Amino acid sequence: MNMSIEEKLGVDKYLVDENNAHIEIDNTHSDIQEKMKLVNACPAGLYKLSDDGTLSFDYAGCLECGTCRILSMGKVVSKWEFPLGTMGIEYRLG
Ligand code: SF4
Repeated sequence: MNMSIEEKLGVDKYLVDENNAHIEIDNTHSDIQEKMKLVNACPAGLYKLSDDGTLSFDYAGCLECGTCRILSMGKVVSKWEFPLGTMGIEYRLG
């Protein structure tokens, strides 16, 4: 059975830790290109840039791939940790 990426992600299960954001961003960072790297690279589309240059981010739905950490830790990304045990994504189709 062929499934699209969206269908595969749709069967994954997330347990969001509402009290602990495992990734945080520094929105005082003013470099739009650095922000756009995150918008373009996050496979879950969790980074969004508004017209006024403000970057919004929602850690719920994170696939824990680490791409934003590699691209931007210490720049726009100010904190990157794995969610606490049993929290985060539970893959259903590998
Ligand atoms: S770890 Fe991956 S899925 Fe999660 S926010 Fe970063 S780029 Fe997106």
